[in-house]
Amino acid sequence: MTPQEILKNTFGYDTFRPGQERLVNAVLSGRDAMGIMPTGAGKSVCFQIPSLVFEGLTLVISPLISLMLDQVLTLKQYGIRAAFLNSTLTPGQQRTVLTRAAGNAYQIMYVAPERLSAPSFLSFCQNHPIPFVAVDEAHCISQWGHAFRRDYLQIKPFLTSLPQRPIVGAYTATATAKVQEDIAVSLGLRNPVVQINSFDRPNLYFDVARGNKSLELRSFLHRHANDSGIIYCGTRSDVEEICDSLIRAGFDATRYHAGLPDKERTENQSDFLYDRKKIMVATNAFGMGIDKSNVSFVVHYSMPKNIESYYQEAGRAGRDGSPAECLLLYSAQDIRLNEFLIRHSLEENKELSEQEKAVREAHELELLKKMSFYATSTDCLRMLILDYFGEHIGPCGHCGNCDASYEEVEISARLRLILSSIRKMEENHRSFGRVTLRDFFKGSKSQSIINKGLDRYYGYGALSSVSAERILQIIDWAVQNHWLRAESGDYPVIRLGQIDSAYWTAEDEKIIARLPYTRAEREKQQPKPASRGGLFESLRALRKNIAAEQHVPAFIIFNDATLIDMARIKPVTIRQLLSVNGVGKIKADQYGQRFIDCIRDYLEENNN
Ligand code: ADP
Ligand code: ZN
Repeated sequence: MTPQEILKNTFGYDTFRPGQERLVNAVLSGRDAMGIMPTGAGKSVCFQIPSLVFEGLTLVISPLISLMLDQVLTLKQYGIRAAFLNSTLTPGQQRTVLTRAAGNAYQIMYVAPERLSAPSFLSFCQNHPIPFVAVDEAHCISQWGHAFRRDYLQIKPFLTSLPQRPIVGAYTATATAKVQEDIAVSLGLRNPVVQINSFDRPNLYFDVARGNKSLELRSFLHRHANDSGIIYCGTRSDVEEICDSLIRAGFDATRYHAGLPDKERTENQSDFLYDRKKIMVATNAFGMGIDKSNVSFVVHYSMPKNIESYYQEAGRAGRDGSPAECLLLYSAQDIRLNEFLIRHSLEENKELSEQEKAVREAHELELLKKMSFYATSTDCLRMLILDYFGEHIGPCGHCGNCDASYEEVEISARLRLILSSIRKMEENHRSFGRVTLRDFFKGSKSQSIINKGLDRYYGYGALSSVSAERILQIIDWAVQNHWLRAESGDYPVIRLGQIDSAYWTAEDEKIIARLPYTRAEREKQQPKPASRGGLFESLRALRKNIAAEQHVPAFIIFNDATLIDMARIKPVTIRQLLSVNGVGKIKADQYGQRFIDCIRDYLEENNN
């Protein structure tokens, strides 16, 4: 069978995704290969297809022990003979796996890097044909990567110790050139075919909300009522608080952070994986190696410290290629918190000299600045992310900023009021952040306003009829246009910017600003996004039942992209079913009839 036929027959996919075919062919023609592709691009089939073609056993080296079981279950669903060998198995089970492997029971085997130095494993490898070794998460070999693993340095000596050096493939989602070079050198790749994909993830919709976080979150979750997703929080106590409040409001949420007992953490994780709970509220400890493919959204309740972390976490949405949404909830507080965390973790660091700390601090603050820019900019969000990774595109037309419609607003009087109030505050040697100013102009009676004595200042409540969001927009606009300036530092206060002295007396100057429609206005204008529809939900329910019978996570049966395609095509014969993207022969034989019955029922009920 050709790689194309294997892709169709075994995996059920009609066409290769960008880069996959080239990497598969490289390996099949005997060349080493290196695949640099973003999360969700489909790196696995790049080494799984060759493993089905080669005689002998393909080894996949991966650091993610907790994932191996799922990966092997997934492969078994495709009818592939797969196994894993790691410390979660008892010594007896490990021996059984090796004995069976020696009897050619498997085509592909997942191992953790520390396995490469175990004598029993080495002696097996000396005596069994190993045509191909795939190194997954290959960035772990680089000290410059974000997940260095000393064990990965054993891979190269392992390869050369084999009677015949296998073909080697390295796969990663890490983008920097330095890491790429390290991978090739440290693994001893020989003239590899290098495939570097775009880091764009067209199915992800990026958005930033700058209003009240808990209200924004509620309204977002209501729009995604049937979807499964992750909410990342900056601290454990935020996780607790938000998870509790969501549960109280009737959402189907669970939580994950390093402070929970192991047992509870594992349980919550599998509740989410197996779709028993729809929403996971977690710190960034959650997700390393979670490859649940049907995550429909990732919300960040607080801003991460750089774009790379953000993209990696947000990128856990939509891995199967179906549409997914990534929302960042922003407040200026987030900048301060991150500055504090950066400084704090450097102070704690005992390995670096003072000078090194200073360099590192400057570097991290610079990265934080880019992240803050992303959070506050009105430019295309996708453009900002890809810029960061060195790819340059135009506005994408498919993100919150591209979609935000703007209106021309006459703000002369409101701006004048804001500027003169801030001038009066400065005369009294006082200055405040943008949120405090907003609350002040809105006339808030909050404790913090009263405590600061702000309710006695000129301008207090003077914009009470203007929406809080619009007040912030005007302040932000004034900063961008240098009427005001935002000071950096522990407390980013707003001060007067470059204002011509004539301005104060020229009462009639007319100022027009281009401001985004406020969220309330936008929600009025836009129809609610269409739900994926009744049939999709029925198919999803069926998938859930089958997954429960088989004791596997639902996405291992079929991923969301496949169900969406199935709901669109509405196949009523096995033949038609095979034309659905993601339905291969084995799965069609096993579950096809039940899905077809489900579709027939649906069509009948809707007399069609
Ligand atoms: P990565 O390891 O690059 O993050 P995976 O290998 O986990 O990505 O693949 C992500 C998802 O894409 C999986 O659900 C996989 O089945 C699906 N996929 C892979 N290749 C294709 C393809 N050619 N067409 C459609 N879907 C694919
Ligand atoms: Zn855009």
